[in-house]
Amino acid sequence: MAAVASPRRIAAAMLPVLVVHGGAGSIPRKNEEPYSAGVQVAARAGYAVLREGGSVMDAVVEAVTLLENNPVYNAGCGSVLNEHGGVEMDALVMDGHTLSSGAVSAVRRIANPVQLARLVMEKTSHLCLTAEGASKFARAMGVQEVQEESLITDYARKRWKQNLDRDSNPVECQMGKMGTVGAVAADSEGNVACATSTGGMLNKMEGRVGDTPCIGCGGYADNRVGAVSPTGHGEAIMKVTLPRLILFYMEQGKSAQDASDEALAYMWERVQGLAGVVVVDPRGGWAARCNSKQMMWAAAQNDVLHYGLQAGEHFSQPLQGPDVPNAKDQEQH
Ligand code: ASP
Repeated sequence: MAAVASPRRIAAAMLPVLVVHGGAGSIPRKNEEPYSAGVQVAARAGYAVLREGGSVMDAVVEAVTLLENNPVYNAGCGSVLNEHGGVEMDALVMDGHTLSSGAVSAVRRIANPVQLARLVMEKTSHLCLTAEGASKFARAMGVQEVQEESLITDYARKRWKQNLDRDSNPVECQMGKMGTVGAVAADSEGNVACATSTGGMLNKMEGRVGDTPCIGCGGYADNRVGAVSPTGHGEAIMKVTLPRLILFYMEQGKSAQDASDEALAYMWERVQGLAGVVVVDPRGGWAARCNSKQMMWAAAQNDVLHYGLQAGEHFSQPLQGPDVPNAKDQEQH
């Protein structure tokens, strides 16, 4: 009789896994290279944390911190500007083992909002701190404030000015520049976590809070099902609680990919929302899906780096190999 691998063994072979995204929308071909390089570096770094025995929370925070520090993304340095030309950022983390979560919203002058969100989770009895209260908490925790200018790129200022124009459509324009960042991970024990960070929507009203810091909207993680980090039009994501909807479909037995596709289709049908998601389950199944034209993503599993940009695109290369792709797999993931 042929030997059949046990589900436990199959799961062990697929773990750990880490998937990151660098925003959904569409970008001009000439800008693809830095977006792609950034998510690949972040996926490698987060995966290395898992391989060295770090926790899933350590891994997703590491990956998202790197993306916040990279000025090409709309998070940390590089954030889009609000209607007054200021930077207000949102971030969320969630631990699937305990369902602990932490978030900050409309926070200013912080280089790494994802790390502050983690501190909210670990050091307070609350789930989310906002605006000035979040800044006071940061000071109390010894988190150094930075000059707002250091978070603003020339590109962000240029786009802000363009969108002050009365005929501009900031939502449409947002979809022309990707950049919210996020990560999900599962370790060899089947623990899952998520982290998401953003500067929000271009030229948003001061004080606007989007999906990112809201649990179930900006991410969700539960060891019993999986973890999700989304990106896209926050108001649409919130209306259908996209990450929690995906996990609901997974609870009903759907794969990470099928659940993502079904939830994205539902969001489009109900509220015409465009978004993308990265998803893991505790057995190592994963997905990177979008209903926008593009979402920049990268995943690391079994010492292979996967990545893609156009919807349905999927390249892979050995993690130890050269940085330039040496294998191409155009199959739908
Ligand atoms: N979801 C983010 C927000 O609405 C933006 C994005 O992902 O591009 O704040």
